[in-house]
Amino acid sequence: MKSTVAQKTEIQQPVVNKGVDKETGVTFYVVKSDSDPNTWYQVRWNEQALEWQCNCVSRKPCKHQRAVNAVLVAQRQMEQRDRYFQWKQREEQDAIDAEYAAQVKEQERQAYRNFEASCGYYDHPWA
Ligand SMILES: [Zn+2]
Repeated sequence: MKSTVAQKTEIQQPVVNKGVDKETGVTFYVVKSDSDPNTWYQVRWNEQALEWQCNCVSRKPCKHQRAVNAVLVAQRQMEQRDRYFQWKQREEQDAIDAEYAAQVKEQERQAYRNFEASCGYYDHPWA
């Protein structure tokens, strides 16, 4: 649970958009200003400093950097959740397939038993 003081300094519903630098091809993010809807701050990852950098005037790390981080964390969590559900679906499908294969095998056995019973052969083909 966040404290009231911390909540005041965070963007409640951050508007974060992804952009690509046309010259360098590097991905960056723009975060809409809380106070001015016409202002967007650029948040870029700095490879040398290994940290997000924002072009606003606030003390760093600023709420725009945190907003980008929060969006990326949420995105990663969603991707992880998607992968988990895909994996779970595969596991369930595998279980269904295995059950079906066992049923087919049992039907084959039954067919051979019926054949044995009908003509008196006792050589089990699966032995
Ligand atoms: Zn900022």
